[in-house]
Amino acid sequence: MSQNNMQRDILITNLEQELERIAKEKFGKDLKDCTNEEAYVVLLEATSLIMNASENLAGEKKIYYISMEFLIGKLLSNNLINLRIYDKVNEILKKNGKNLAEIEECEPEPSLGNGGLGRLAACFLDSIATLGLAGEGIGLNYHFGLFRQVFKDNLQTAEKDAWIQNESWLEKTDTSFEVCFGKKKVVSRLYNMNVVGYDTGVNKLRLFDVETVDESLVKKGITFDKEAIEKNLTLFLYPDDSDEAGNLLRIYQEYFLVSNAAQLILREQKERQYDLHELYKHAVIQINDTHPTMIIPELIRILVEDKAFSMDDAIDVVSKTCAYTNHTILAEALETWPLKYLEKVVPQLVPYIKELDKRIRAKVKDPKVQIIDKDKKVHMAFIDIHYGFSVNGVAAIHTEILKNSELNDFYKLYPEKFNNKTNGITFRRWLLSCNHPLADFISEKIGDAYKKDASKLEDLLKFKDDQEVLDKLAEIKHQKKVELVDYLKKKENVEVDPESIFDIQVKRLHEYKRQQMNALYIIHKYLEIKNGKKPVRPLTFIFGAKAAPAYVIARDIIHLLLCLQEIINNDPDVSPYMKVIMVENYNVSYAERLIPACDVSEQISLASKEASGTGNMKFMLNGAVTLGTDDGANVEIHNLVGDDNIFIFGISADEVIEHYKKADYVSKDYYKKSKVIKEAVDFITSKQCLAVGHKENLKRLHDELLNKDWFMTLIDLEDYIREKDLVFAEYENRERWKKMMLTNIAKAGFFSSDRTIEEYNRDIWKLS
Ligand SMILES: *Cc1c(COP(=O)(O)O)cnc(C)c1O
Repeated sequence: MSQNNMQRDILITNLEQELERIAKEKFGKDLKDCTNEEAYVVLLEATSLIMNASENLAGEKKIYYISMEFLIGKLLSNNLINLRIYDKVNEILKKNGKNLAEIEECEPEPSLGNGGLGRLAACFLDSIATLGLAGEGIGLNYHFGLFRQVFKDNLQTAEKDAWIQNESWLEKTDTSFEVCFGKKKVVSRLYNMNVVGYDTGVNKLRLFDVETVDESLVKKGITFDKEAIEKNLTLFLYPDDSDEAGNLLRIYQEYFLVSNAAQLILREQKERQYDLHELYKHAVIQINDTHPTMIIPELIRILVEDKAFSMDDAIDVVSKTCAYTNHTILAEALETWPLKYLEKVVPQLVPYIKELDKRIRAKVKDPKVQIIDKDKKVHMAFIDIHYGFSVNGVAAIHTEILKNSELNDFYKLYPEKFNNKTNGITFRRWLLSCNHPLADFISEKIGDAYKKDASKLEDLLKFKDDQEVLDKLAEIKHQKKVELVDYLKKKENVEVDPESIFDIQVKRLHEYKRQQMNALYIIHKYLEIKNGKKPVRPLTFIFGAKAAPAYVIARDIIHLLLCLQEIINNDPDVSPYMKVIMVENYNVSYAERLIPACDVSEQISLASKEASGTGNMKFMLNGAVTLGTDDGANVEIHNLVGDDNIFIFGISADEVIEHYKKADYVSKDYYKKSKVIKEAVDFITSKQCLAVGHKENLKRLHDELLNKDWFMTLIDLEDYIREKDLVFAEYENRERWKKMMLTNIAKAGFFSSDRTIEEYNRDIWKLS
């Protein structure tokens, strides 16, 4: 351990006295007399002290990971694990009659992210610190975050998620910057959160806020005055953008993020007396999706206007500093802003964006690659591709699709910029923290080395025929299922049989992720059971998903799932054989309970549309078997575990792309051809559904499936039903299933975000 951690080691040695000291000071009591809430505050304070006494990771070059979202999850348990004091704290608490798991319950989950992209950013920060690299995340401090989901009348409603408490991991700094929107000016305030690596030092997550933000602006649900920028800028992540004011607010937020980031980065260069002409030698900026794209013209603007750079020099140095990660091929997710919106919000940037556009026009004639199109819309991703030095996709198949179809015109211009970085997850959170019995058992069998080098998990393969090991894996799974059953009883008031098969689909609700296909299977199964065809073993279908409040069809799908839950769980003919549970307000903490308890991991996107997925990796690591399409990282899971340890169905990405090209998919043809499909689809508007649901929502969803179905649910439905029945049948072959579990865990090492970050560093960032 390094010299710089001496301070921290002293604190850790005296941890027990330290905890007692804080308990006395804060609450005037001994630790043993503290409530769980108080004990949480004591632990929070002690852990923060230890982190602040730890080595700050530093180097000649630093990675700045800029992202609109950081879905970090609760931090206590993870920080304790990464500081290597989890067991010690556990012991001290036990001695004082306390339970760490119960205390963790008191921690609110930060609401700073939405889904996979934000969670990836959080896993990356953990791995950057764990690899000892100097790096920081830069984002915004949303007071009410993404909304909190509440079900009422079988519908999703949205409430503000007030996650910030007096005592939190946020540390207020005295850094603040002026951010100008044309003539309007707001003042920012920087908050830091420590990011501690596993057995290394500490980096920072920088979260910018507005000094003048006014929480009382939010009246009912999540509605507020969108015009009052200085009061609303950091209230919500992804505020409703279905009208012009909402669009403008997003641009305000994005510029606020990048203006602060630029000022922070340049200030640091100055402090370290670096020459800005060599910015790229000391800083690399990873742009997470298109939201932070304006960092490119903003840096160029500052260098030209304040630092006396020529335009050529400014563009050159910024282009060598910025790299872009693409997360989607869905056209709707690639931001394009009307130039007139940018003129309204950030007029000072517009001349630079026009200059960047002009330079491309002078070089390339193809209208498909121009930054400003003929309708005067600015294609943000195109700025990143032309003026960044690296463009990466997030799974092998995704990068190939970018190169060969979606971004092919750009690939032909800059083949050297394109590269793949298959996503990963941090095993500290998604195994060590969420599944202690499994992590401990793995350590017992193959030692602790896998915690630092995930590829070592493969050592488990030598136990492939060891009955004791296989039985133990099944026993741990059962234990996690029982724990989940207890939690679901408490939280959702549903009874679940731990002997049933747990089939879980948790992820954002988007049509391409095809929760509706799973719903149609459930209807099919329900009708089968009604007709007397009972499954060998009861089935439990669990969903968790939020839908963007403005995404009508996505909310209709949630409505359908909640209606099915009510119908099926209350039908005495059927409920002993199957249950449906849509958990409320799915988030990281919920994921940490669901994933270890899962038997069948549902990864059923329309092939070509899921860039990578990371949920699939978390499930695999915890011994679930994947049922999915050959898409995103599923392809790589498939290659690693082989045909015998995964269940793949559906048409291929190439076939999907062909159908889109020819525009020849007609969902009604499938509906008419198949009795099974017709029965399942029509159930959506049956008397039974209408009795518990709303006609408007259900009818709209039915119409959508019949007349649009942009994500081709019906094309794969029969294949899905067949494959899923096969999965459930295979589950009864218990010995084979246990081997599948073991193989999936053993092969998951590749998906450690430590591996991903090593690749980013090797190919893009080049930090020492
Ligand atoms: C991992 C994770 C996601 C991403 O899930 P996908 O299945 O990859 O879309 C979304 N939300 C939460 C809370 C997660 O932990």
